[in-house]
Amino acid sequence: MAQNFKYPPDSDLRRLLRFEPDSGAIWLGDRRMVLMHTMALAALRQDLMSSVGPEHARRILTRMGYASGLCDAEYAKKMRPGETLQDSFMVGPQLHMLEGAARVTPVKLNFDVPAGQFYGEFRWDHSWEAYAHRQKFGLVDDPACWMLLGYASGYTSAFMGRLILFKETLCAACGADHCLIVGRPIEEWPDGEAHRVYFTDDSLMDKMEALQSQVEALKSTLEPVSQGGQMIGASPAFRKAYTLMQKVAQTQVTVLLTGETGVGKERFARALHELSNRAEAPFVAVNCAALPAELIEAELFGVEKGAYTGAHAARAGRFERADGGTLLLDEVGELPLAAQAKLLRVLQEGEIERVGGETTRKVNVRLVAATNVDLEQAVLAGRFRRDLLYRLNVYPICIPALRERTADIELLAQSMLARFCALHSKRITGFGERALQALQQHNWPGNVRELENLVERGVILASQGGMVEVEHLFPNQPELAQTGLGSHGQLVSLPTTVEDDLSARILGSGSSLEEIEARVLDHAVARARGNLSEAARLLGLTRPQLAYRQKRRYANGADVPTLEPTRPPGAM
Ligand SMILES: [Zn+2]
Repeated sequence: MAQNFKYPPDSDLRRLLRFEPDSGAIWLGDRRMVLMHTMALAALRQDLMSSVGPEHARRILTRMGYASGLCDAEYAKKMRPGETLQDSFMVGPQLHMLEGAARVTPVKLNFDVPAGQFYGEFRWDHSWEAYAHRQKFGLVDDPACWMLLGYASGYTSAFMGRLILFKETLCAACGADHCLIVGRPIEEWPDGEAHRVYFTDDSLMDKMEALQSQVEALKSTLEPVSQGGQMIGASPAFRKAYTLMQKVAQTQVTVLLTGETGVGKERFARALHELSNRAEAPFVAVNCAALPAELIEAELFGVEKGAYTGAHAARAGRFERADGGTLLLDEVGELPLAAQAKLLRVLQEGEIERVGGETTRKVNVRLVAATNVDLEQAVLAGRFRRDLLYRLNVYPICIPALRERTADIELLAQSMLARFCALHSKRITGFGERALQALQQHNWPGNVRELENLVERGVILASQGGMVEVEHLFPNQPELAQTGLGSHGQLVSLPTTVEDDLSARILGSGSSLEEIEARVLDHAVARARGNLSEAARLLGLTRPQLAYRQKRRYANGADVPTLEPTRPPGAM
């Protein structure tokens, strides 16, 4: 039975396509695209055929199309919420047209997603691939639209959640006037198994299974085990700081870590500890800014019973707890002057005295201090002791800000993604390309810690099985105005959406909301040639609602509009 198909408007899909010549990028939603000559693709096809043979070339090109169809299937999930399932499905054929593959006309389409049933027939006119194939090889005996078929199979398989195989029953490369394709679940094709080879490695099922086992593997390693001093980073700025740290690790020298807040000073200190011969002994970190001033001395050096009200029992301080190991004094610039004096004495004598105690204890501690303030400045301002600074500043290592090591951003983000996916039981396939670009371009005032927060939020917001997209990382950032496709396919400057543009223009007009409503009502009535029912329909109102609004205006003293002379219906 012939079905009558009508595509829903594709303005939603056209809006996905953005040209950013200034940044050298073209986007389809979150996916980066590229404009490429079909002649270049035809040359690639010819090279593939002669180097790996037709069968392998077909396989490679089919899989390329399949990957592309998988990507576009994501839009079927996102676009057209609340529309019929058939309209959602049409995202694929409509995108395929927008992308320049061919003109796609549905001939027959029956599917039932929960039942896994699918039967589809589509006609392709002007397939670029048939054209390119004929250019290189002349008329051939077998259908040749491999990439396009791969796309149809990939898109439909992702949409249906099972492998749907499309085959060409007519192809313009064989001399037909157009191509015709038929799609069914692979099991329903008598020779389906023979075609599986084109898809198996990329099949959704395989991907899901592989991801599942990755998650399990990550979960088992989730405990913060020692990294053996390993840290992530390949940029020159990072490698320089890391090498300095490696060189000093085996000594007993006091290290001063400097750098902006969030650059990972504690992680550096921990790596230093793990690379030192103290690795088996404790690593103790104390944030000097987080402790109330009156408790700092007791925290660092310990306290004897009854030293002050509330000291009910004797307690070891951080120095004692770190005995044999490494003590990190983070934000050391925040230490009060009294505590600085005591710290200096400990560093000079190598022994501590608990608060309220009379005896001294020997401690063997490797000290690492960290600060994000300029200690020289603090000395000049009288907030930090110069002699203590000399003691601490034996071996300074400056950890670079994240914006100075952009080459590491993706590495770090991918590793954080794996960690947070395991932590939050999420299966996420990666970052969208636009998301990665946004990560590269961000200024990172909060450094690695900020990146960590963004990635964790992204993992929480991204949908199960999907990708972390730019809106999951930066939910409040407006989209940039870009170039897109106009109604006739020409390139035009696009605001974020038509609605936004209209709203912006209205806000800029200086009119009140009431004036704008009045103008829109008059416009609708004029366009309906005075027919109030028709005007109400244009406005999405009922006739009584429109009459009420009109009446309210005239009650407020507005002039009754003069209607344009109406013609009787049917008059020419
Ligand atoms: Zn064809």
